[in-house]
Order: sequence, then C-alpha cells, then structure tokens
Amino acid sequence: MSAASALAAPPAPIRLLDLPAQHAAIQAELDAALQHVMHTGDFIQGPDVEQFAQELGAYLGGAYVVPCANGTDALQLALMSLELQPGDEIIVPAFTYVATAEAAAILGLRPVPAEVDPRMFTLDAAATEAAITLRTRAILAVHLYGQCADLTALRGVANRHGLALIEDNAQAIGATWQGADGQLVAAGTVGEVGTTSFFPSKNLGCLGDGGALLTRDAARAAHLYELANHGQARGRKYVHQRIGLNSRLDTLQAALLRVKLRHLGAWTAARQQVAAQYDAALGTVPGLQIPARQAGSTHVFHQYTLTLASEARRDALQKHLQQHGVPSVVYYPVPVHLQPAYAYLGYRAGQFPVAEALCRTVLSLPIHPGLTPEQVAYVAAVVKTGAAE
Ligand SMILES: *Cc1c(COP(=O)(O)O)cnc(C)c1O
Repeated sequence: MSAASALAAPPAPIRLLDLPAQHAAIQAELDAALQHVMHTGDFIQGPDVEQFAQELGAYLGGAYVVPCANGTDALQLALMSLELQPGDEIIVPAFTYVATAEAAAILGLRPVPAEVDPRMFTLDAAATEAAITLRTRAILAVHLYGQCADLTALRGVANRHGLALIEDNAQAIGATWQGADGQLVAAGTVGEVGTTSFFPSKNLGCLGDGGALLTRDAARAAHLYELANHGQARGRKYVHQRIGLNSRLDTLQAALLRVKLRHLGAWTAARQQVAAQYDAALGTVPGLQIPARQAGSTHVFHQYTLTLASEARRDALQKHLQQHGVPSVVYYPVPVHLQPAYAYLGYRAGQFPVAEALCRTVLSLPIHPGLTPEQVAYVAAVVKTGAAE
C-alpha cells in the first residue's frame, strides 16, 4: 500500500480529546455521584470535597490536598501563603501558560521570566539561578506537558538562595520524581507548595472548573485552607484569621473527581501507550524531534509535543495534518515576556531565544486515553508524510 492510499481517511474521527466517550465509559459511576450530591443538597464544602482531598492525597503518596476553585487560584493562593511584599520577584518560565505569570502579577508581585531547556521545555536551572536578585522570593516551576522540571537542580537553587519552590503541576498530575536519594515522590509535592487544575481537558479533569493545592506540611495546608476559604479556619465559622479568597471546589465536582480519580492510573497508562507508539513511529523521522524525557521524572503525557526545524515547517505540518483530519495545537504561540499584558515588565524580543523558538516550532498531537492504535498509526503516518514535504 502506498503512503498516499494509507492516508485516505482516518479510521475514525480523531479528536484532541474525547470527554464524552471517556464519560460514557463510566456513566453509571458518574450518574450515581451526581444523583447523590443532588439529593443531599450539600453543594458547598459537602463531605465529598474532604473525601476527594484525602483520596487524592493518598494517590500522591501522602500529601495534604487543599481543593480550590481552579488552577489559577491555586497558583495565587500558593503565592499568598508566602506572605510577600509588593514588588517581590517570582521566577517563572518564559515558556508556559500565562496563568503562571498572571498569579504573581495580580498580587502585585513581579513575574521574572527565565529561559527554558530547549529539549525538556521546562525551567532551566542555570538560567533560573542567573535571574535571581535581592528581591527574588520564589521559583515557580511548571511541569509542562506532563513531566517534571529538573526538581533536584531547582530545589538546589532554591535552597542555596533561601527561596521557596512552587510547582505548577496542572499538567503533570500523577507523574513521579526520583530525587538524589532515590526516593520516588509525586510531582507537585517536592516544593513548599504544588498546585494543580481540574480543568476538563487536564489528565484529571472535572466537568467545569476546579483546582487544588498540594503540600507535605500540615501547618501550610491549614494556612492554604484558610486562604481559600475567606481566611476562616476549618470548623470555625465566621471567625476570619486572615484576608482570603472565596475559592472552593464544588461538592458536585469533588464527587465526580472521586469517580475519575479511580481511573486516572489506567488513563495515564493509556496515554503513555499512545506516546510509546508515536515514539516508535516518529523517533527517526528527519526534521522533527519527539519529546525528550527528563531524567528522574516519569511522563504522564498531558501533551505529546513535537519540535520542528522552523516555523514554516511547523505551520506546514499543521496544515497537512488538518487536511488529513488530524487536529493539532500550538501550546503556546507567545512567550510570557512578549504577551501584550506583560509589556510593562519591559522585555524585548530576543531576550529569551529558546522560549521564543519553541513558540515558533512546537506542535502537539492528539493524545488521550481513548485513541486506538489504528488512529495513532494513522496520525503518525500523516506526520511522516507531512514532515517529508
Ligand atoms: C491549565 C493550567 C493552569 C490554569 O488552570 P485553570 O484551572 O484553568 O485556572 C495553570 N498552569 C498551567 C501550566 C496549566 O496548564
């Protein structure tokens, strides 16, 4: 069979993600959870919220989990818990989703972008150390696409300079990190605080907005709980210890997340299977780089992201994929320092060449637990013919 005829049509429509199919497979469990919450009427801070926090904490190897309204609030709450002064600096990767920088900026803190590793897509430890000033208070690392930034190196930088380490783990829930001592720890639980998001498209997504904070420190967990709940200590209604937010995970979402958490391990394994098939098919294709693996981290493949040789090649491949019924996305086309909203920081094009180049050359392929081997083979075949053009 020629390459052209092999590409005649996808075996079944290929989607970036397929939540309806995922939900249909566990419909009875989800329905039961939904009905239960509806009938109890306990919509805010009902028992499912705490039960979900306990279950996710256990899944993450014994971390404290403080649910909140979304992943962006989680970042803001994490920074609030550091009790910083306006103008204090937070180092963030120049290549990330904007929420990472936004959480600092909205608090009057200064997001300071730093360069990323061109193969790992995550914060470069040497560039991070070089960005430290007398005002630096924290490093906000992002586990982009589903694997950890180099946490041993970043923890080292943070410790040497007396900085907090915060992990934006919105994309890497369930990934593990193996530290220098050989111990395996869950992504999001190495820093003082980790954050995550249950936005529907995340690896563990709810049916709306949701998020959580992760920490191994009981006192910090209590502090974060207060910050997310109007500054009110657990169980002490109408007494406000501090100024906080109203940032809660709905009981309904927590109940649905409890169901989905039971399947997260299998879904992660399915994503890893898809990634392995892409790797095998695309690893030696000239003109593109398959995702590199960070030593010490597992990869939960929130995204499977290729790097092309140039912007023109990337855009041509995306067009070719589209013409053959394969959706793809550029996460993210604009680096933090060149976002219009962050012009006030005073950066110029050319200051973070790696981040800028990644914005021009990355392309994420469909990856979700419902893709069949035939669909993955089809996508890979289309990528191959597209890369050869
Ligand atoms: C999704 C995401 C967020 C924001 O989460 P929301 O729940 O949408 O607020 C923050 N950081 C990263 C890296 C993300 O992928």
